[in-house]
Amino acid sequence: MAKLTDPVSILKGVGPAKAKLLAALNIHTLQDLICHFPRGYEDRTRLVTVSELEPDRPACFRAMVMNTPRTSHIRKGLDITRVQVADHTGRLNLTFFNQKFTTDQLQYGREYIFYGAVSGDYTGYGMTSPSFEALDAPPVTTRRVLPIYPLTAGLSNAVMLKTVAQALAVCDPPAEILPEQVRREYGILPAERAYYAIHAPASMEEAELAKKRLVFEEFFVFSAGLSLMRAARAEKRTDPYQNRELTAFYAALPFALTGAQSRAIAEIADDLCRGTPMNRLVQGDVGSGKTMVAAAAAQLAMQNGYQAALMAPTEILAEQHYASLSKLFAPLGWSVALLTGSLTPKQKKDVRRQIAEGQVQLVVGTHALLTDTTVFHDLGLVIADEQHRFGVAQRSALGAKGTDPHLLVMSATPIPRTLALLMYGDLEVSVLDELPPGRQQVQTFLVGENMRSRINTFIRKQAAEGHQSYVVCPAVEENEELGIKAATVWAETLQKTVFPDLRIALLHGQMKGTEKEEVMTAFSRGEADVLVATTVIEVGVDVPNATLMVIEDADRFGLSQLHQLRGRVGRGSAQSYCILTTQNRNPETVARLKALCKTTDGFRIAEEDLRLRGPGDFFGARQSGLPAFRVADLSFDLQTLKQAQAASAQWIDTQGTADTPEARALRQRIGELFRRAQGTMN
Ligand code: ADP
Ligand code: MG
Repeated sequence: MAKLTDPVSILKGVGPAKAKLLAALNIHTLQDLICHFPRGYEDRTRLVTVSELEPDRPACFRAMVMNTPRTSHIRKGLDITRVQVADHTGRLNLTFFNQKFTTDQLQYGREYIFYGAVSGDYTGYGMTSPSFEALDAPPVTTRRVLPIYPLTAGLSNAVMLKTVAQALAVCDPPAEILPEQVRREYGILPAERAYYAIHAPASMEEAELAKKRLVFEEFFVFSAGLSLMRAARAEKRTDPYQNRELTAFYAALPFALTGAQSRAIAEIADDLCRGTPMNRLVQGDVGSGKTMVAAAAAQLAMQNGYQAALMAPTEILAEQHYASLSKLFAPLGWSVALLTGSLTPKQKKDVRRQIAEGQVQLVVGTHALLTDTTVFHDLGLVIADEQHRFGVAQRSALGAKGTDPHLLVMSATPIPRTLALLMYGDLEVSVLDELPPGRQQVQTFLVGENMRSRINTFIRKQAAEGHQSYVVCPAVEENEELGIKAATVWAETLQKTVFPDLRIALLHGQMKGTEKEEVMTAFSRGEADVLVATTVIEVGVDVPNATLMVIEDADRFGLSQLHQLRGRVGRGSAQSYCILTTQNRNPETVARLKALCKTTDGFRIAEEDLRLRGPGDFFGARQSGLPAFRVADLSFDLQTLKQAQAASAQWIDTQGTADTPEARALRQRIGELFRRAQGTMN
């Protein structure tokens, strides 16, 4: 018997070449292979007669070969084999392309099981390249539910199927980790059966059950991991902050805080004075004023003798936070530093030295720069802006640095309850459910190309009133095929032919950090009337004088993303507008975009987005910071998640530290899942 940790190369037929192909799919061990789950199934169990075959509906049928297959060589690289088959209900002509080698197996007068769909034209019905198997051969591609695997070039489904089956034949699947009582309560298959059934289900129903079991298991492991993280943090000790007096800080602010901001700050102060590391999320819609909450938290850390770090997801945002926070904190006597990739090596070195020596109290930078090699003198608080790019795995990595700073994450992405459970399972949450006073709702319109001249007039009108506009394009460079407006090309068109008299600026992700910074700074100083940009401006950018956003080909974006983008306007006191353009006439697409015109409630938009696109697309797996779920991504369902969470919470309470084989196996699996998640961090 082989072990799960054995390399795939111990299998027959897996030489260096195939091992390399498998490695491309991240499959190295037998366990990886057994956990390489199908992305779907084809039900090939239905057996019909030749006369029952329907166009474009593939099915299995049993038929006899009525003549010797004839192969014609049409030209170099094209051989066509023709053969006729029949059962008692009718005859059928089969055509194969370049399959002489396979079709040689078809023998005149013998019966086979075929799988394929008929298609027809004026010459009659026929079938192209069906799969077939001899009657006495074991069913591999016919007469079964066929798993369809994620593949890579050079590796066919049939080979994957065989290789996985071989792995399951030579070693036991992963051990059971779900307590029997849990399995009984939720009608969950035992591990062993589920692993066999997911790769070779007897029916579509069994495939579903197997999937449900594995999804449940994945959620169970993940939730249990979150609970353990939470419990471990709760046991950690820090020196409680003594000084929570913020009067001087408030006096330095140019405005009074909203009730929601004050509440969040009070919750943070409570956390910091408690004596265990804070682990809190501040969730608030775009424009709700999260930066000030972060600033107050930093002030608390600094006045208690600690350094604070603010991590932003992009350089632009880091720049902006640096600009506003250094202005705020200078009069209060704190020194703020900026650490981004655009600094020269010497500048970076200097800043890092100042941080290490404690001459700087607040450091603003991008994620990478603040987690890599930066050594702090006495880091007390880490603030991560835009939480969905800073997931569970990153949070646990930070804790693992051994410093155990207080952690505050800020998210502008309203996240549906379902995903929130997954993403923030280990966090306390403060919600900013109130916008600063005097904000006007951004008026949003959906328009077609026929409104182009009116859009242009509108942009001109904003400029005439001294306001600025954003024009957001879905791509950097022109993509002929899709016809989507590329930022560079569009910026040029606007400048040369539409608005020769206005100042058009361009911003996209492929520009160098310093360039981006210059463009952004100039725009915020009012030195451009129109900023043509890609989604690099999606997060956090704050230019209150901008009152119009035109989003070109809006159908290319997700709803939540559009909502984020729209949040870049309406940040000042003037009425602001968002114009969504689309040439897409698909009624669903139009309905989706119209929903955005009707509401500015980020939570409702997020729920709608999740409903329409599913969780996989909601953030893009990479960005979510969630572990790469193996099955859960494929069939995400709230019901299973809730059940798994309830079950895991109970399990942690009762046997979290138990020394049973099941509990040990589960703890090991938690470790693996979180390590895998960290592997996808960058
Ligand atoms: P977000 O929550 O999207 O990060 P910001 O912190 O960038 O929002 O704040 C948006 C704008 O509102 C900023 O210009 C900020 O200075 C301003 N602001 C924040 N809090 C208040 C407040 N209490 N009253 C008035 N303006 C505020
Ligand atoms: Mg912000």
